[in-house]
Amino acid sequence: MLKIFNTLAREKEIFQPIHPGKVGVYMCGVTVYDYCHIGHARTYVSADVIVRYLRWRGYAVNYVRNITDIDDKIIKRAHENKEEVSALTHRFIQAMHQDFTALQLTQPDQEPRATAYIPHMITLIQKIIASGHAYVADNGDVYFNVRRFSDYGCLSHHDIDQLESGARVDVTDVKRDPLDFVLWKLAKPGEPKWDSPWGEGRPGWHIECSAMAMDLLGEQFDIHGGGRDLMFPHHENEIAQSEVVIKKKFVNIWVHGGFLQIEKEKMSKSLGNFITIRDVLAKHEPETLRYLLLASHYRSPLVYTDEALQQSHQSLTRFYTALRFLPPATRSTGTLFEQKFIEAMDDDFNTPVALSVLFELAHDIQRLREKDSHQAAEQGALLHYLAGVLGIIQANPEVFFQSGTPIDMAKIEALIAARQVARANKNWSEADHIRQELLGMGIVIEDGPEDTSWKRNI
Ligand code: AMP
Ligand code: ZN
Repeated sequence: MLKIFNTLAREKEIFQPIHPGKVGVYMCGVTVYDYCHIGHARTYVSADVIVRYLRWRGYAVNYVRNITDIDDKIIKRAHENKEEVSALTHRFIQAMHQDFTALQLTQPDQEPRATAYIPHMITLIQKIIASGHAYVADNGDVYFNVRRFSDYGCLSHHDIDQLESGARVDVTDVKRDPLDFVLWKLAKPGEPKWDSPWGEGRPGWHIECSAMAMDLLGEQFDIHGGGRDLMFPHHENEIAQSEVVIKKKFVNIWVHGGFLQIEKEKMSKSLGNFITIRDVLAKHEPETLRYLLLASHYRSPLVYTDEALQQSHQSLTRFYTALRFLPPATRSTGTLFEQKFIEAMDDDFNTPVALSVLFELAHDIQRLREKDSHQAAEQGALLHYLAGVLGIIQANPEVFFQSGTPIDMAKIEALIAARQVARANKNWSEADHIRQELLGMGIVIEDGPEDTSWKRNI
């Protein structure tokens, strides 16, 4: 029996899909104005494992992950870069796809973009206004009237009066209540804008997820998730604006992941303390990062360190060592290992416990290897199979041991320096020869205007 921790109930609940055998999953996606950092990797690897496990358990999952391609931060960055908003978002969507593919993330079944959903959002806002839960403020913006939704706070377990007293009141505010949130804002000069019954403008952030989720998964669906910062106000607002229209429960299970932190602080683009996924992948195998993220439970905070990454590599080495030199075999079935693996994953997707079961299995393979190579191989096939549910340990062990060779940084730097000299002397054949030599070491180089950077050939 699969149990999932539901933020709404604040406890683990037995999972029962709305439609037998089918599960609708919506994950709030990335706001695309920069490269994805490893905090994003954490949230989306967690979502990926949830989807993989549900599918492995036999559910037909419809997985939706949106892209926020219009918001204040995007507009600001495009302005700073003197770039069109669409050019900026296009670039970072491509980069996100490259990073996510490297991390072996399951492709969402649908990946809607906010800018393609403006008519749906306008229709939804009209319905909210018609229900009496939103108003047009003096400056023309449309706000949701939080006080009129009696369940406000049901997800984050906040008391509305406490929220009210803590809310920042701005004298220039056009809101009737400091907690009210914007559904539609009129465009300022030079901002991207769309026509609407309230004038040319753009949607507030929260409305996009309600519009996209309801269109693609139905008014009511099973699982909605994101990092824990989204619990309030984003998801609280989603519930309010959706439920006043549909007049029933919007989402059954709300799933929130813990933060990836650098020391004691959340890693975030706005705090500027972020390490991008590609920074890590320049020096480590994507599987090592994926493993690191799976080694703690998705709801716990995870402190990122280089040492933890080294340990993840060591753990993978142990697994691949167990799988090395085994003859082909059909996997063993009905084992205690498999049962314990399922128990761990059924317990709110407890990947660290599931990994500890896989370690026991790896140990068993090593124990059997000398005595009974056939049985060892059957257990090896089981290890490969179960690890596949987590999206790890799928490579050929020999490939792992080749690519896992530690990088000789000093040698790379020396070769790059030698190539600079060759280029300065216009010795193009020597420069090309060095590039090929680096490629042979699995290193790709890129010449920038200032200097030459390198990364692993992933
Ligand atoms: P954003 O691009 O900031 O809109 O975030 C996209 C998703 O990544 C949201 O679900 C966030 O909660 C999640 N996220 C952002 N930073 C972190 C972090 N440091 N750790 C875990 N998840 C994060
Ligand atoms: Zn969202």
